[in-house]
Amino acid sequence: MITVMKFGGTSVGSPEALQRVAKIVMDEKNDKVVVVSAMSGITNFLVSLADNIGDKDDAVKQFEKKHLDTASHILDAKQMQEFMKEFTPRLNKFKTLLSDENAMKDPYFKDNVTSQGERFSSLLLSHVLRAEGVESVALTSEDCGIFAEGRPLSGSADLSKTESAMAMNVKPYLRKGIVPVITGFYGIKDGVPLTFGRGGSDYSAAVVANAMNADLLEIWTDVDGFMSADPRIVPDAIKIDEMNFGEAAELAYFGAKVLHPRTIEPVRRKHIPLKVKNSFSPEEPGTIIHHLRKPKDELLRSVAVKTDLSIIAISSAEIAFHPEMVARIIKKIAENEVVIYSISTSLSTVAFLVHNNDVKSILLKLNALESGDIERIEVKNDVALVCAVGDNLLSKCGVSGDIFTAVKEAKANVEMISEGASDVSLNFVVPMSRVIDVVRILHKKYVGEDAP
Ligand code: ADP
Ligand code: ASP
Ligand code: MG
Repeated sequence: MITVMKFGGTSVGSPEALQRVAKIVMDEKNDKVVVVSAMSGITNFLVSLADNIGDKDDAVKQFEKKHLDTASHILDAKQMQEFMKEFTPRLNKFKTLLSDENAMKDPYFKDNVTSQGERFSSLLLSHVLRAEGVESVALTSEDCGIFAEGRPLSGSADLSKTESAMAMNVKPYLRKGIVPVITGFYGIKDGVPLTFGRGGSDYSAAVVANAMNADLLEIWTDVDGFMSADPRIVPDAIKIDEMNFGEAAELAYFGAKVLHPRTIEPVRRKHIPLKVKNSFSPEEPGTIIHHLRKPKDELLRSVAVKTDLSIIAISSAEIAFHPEMVARIIKKIAENEVVIYSISTSLSTVAFLVHNNDVKSILLKLNALESGDIERIEVKNDVALVCAVGDNLLSKCGVSGDIFTAVKEAKANVEMISEGASDVSLNFVVPMSRVIDVVRILHKKYVGEDAP
C-alpha cells in the first residue's frame, strides 16, 4: 500500500512545523512518498525576484539565511554537515541561474526561478526525517521524471511519461524502505522547469499519486478539511466530512483555494481517494474525497468564488441560427489558449466568461474576424463566478429560485447563469463588489445559523 502525502507552505513554514510534519510522516504505516511546497512566503519572494532581478545578491542571501536558520534550529552539527553537502550545490545552481543572461531570455525563466523554493523545502524535510532516524532521499522533479507540457507558468503533467519515469526513478527507493521527499509545483519540459500555476503542489502530488498507483493521496494543509466556504470569507464555515470527485473538482476549479484547480483529475482517473487534513491537528479526521458518497438531505454543501472575471458579450443578428459563426468566434478565442469559464447564448448574443487579464488579447483576436460577423462587442469587467454545490440544488424543484432570492437580498444582480452545464453545481455570475455579501447570505441561509 502506498500513501502520497503532500505538505503545503505553512505546514513546512517553520522548524516547529517541519518537526510536526516529520512526526506525521513517521506515523504513516504504509509505504509513503512525500511531496512538498516551498516554505510559506518563499514563492511570493521568488516571484518578486524574477520580476526584478536587480538586488539578486541580497535576495539570495535572504533566501539562504531563511533555509539555513531553519535547518540549524533542528539539525545537530553532524547532521548539518550532511545537509550542507546537498544544500551548497543547489544554492550554487540557483546563483548561476540568476546571473545567466541566456537563461533570463528563456520564456520559462520565471518558472525556473519560482520553482527554487521547493528544491530547498524538500531538502529540509528530508534531512529532518533523517535526523529522526528515517531513511529518506530528497528528489527534484528532474530526478523523478515529472514531465510537463504547456505554456510558461501554466503547465500540465504528461501522466503517462511521468508514470514510466517514476517507476524507474522512485519505486526502487520504496522497495528499500527509503522515503522520497519530492519537489511540488513544477515539472520538466524540454529539460527546463515548467510550473503548474500558483498552488500547483497539490496538482504535483496528484500526479505523483497517479504515477505511483498510490492507494491514497493526503493533502496536508492548515485547515481541518474542505469547508463549506472559504473560512476567510465565512468565519463560521463548517468542515465537510465526505465529498465526491465531481463536487471537489468543480469547487476547486471555481476558486476553493484549498485544492489547486486541477488536483482531482489525476487521482480520479485511477480511483485514488484523496483526504484533506490539517497538519496542525493531525488527529482531526479531515475530508475524504472519493467516487461515491452517501447522499444527504441538504441544499447547499459548499460554495466557492472565482473573482477577477469579465463577460465578453458578442452580438450578431440571429447568431443562434449560425452555429458556424459561434465556432469561428470560439476558434479565434482559443488561439490565445485562454480559459473560458462559461459560455451562454441567446438569439443574437453569445457571452463568454473569461479572466480580466485575458480580455485585451481576446478583443485583439476578435478584431481579426470578418467585420460582417460581429455587430457589437460589450465587455463587463470585474465580475465573480459563484459555484454552489449541494445534493438538492439541481434536483429539487424551486431550489434555484430560493438561491436567487438570497442573491437579491445581497442586492446583487445576476449577470450570467450556467445551470445544467454541470451535474453537481449551480454556477452564476454577480458583480465582484457584491460577491462577498452573496456568499455570506447564501451560507447563512442554507448552511449556517438559518439553515433549514
Ligand atoms: P497550502 O499552503 O497548504 O497549500 P493554501 O493556502 O493553498 O494551503 O490552502 C489552504 C487555504 O485555503 C485555507 O487556509 C483557506 O483559507 C483556503 N480556503 C479557501 N476555500 C476553502 C475551502 N472551501 N475549504 C478550506 N479552505 C479553503
Ligand atoms: N509554492 C507554490 C506556490 O506558492 C506552490 C504551492 O504552494 O502549491 O504557489
Ligand atoms: Mg495550496
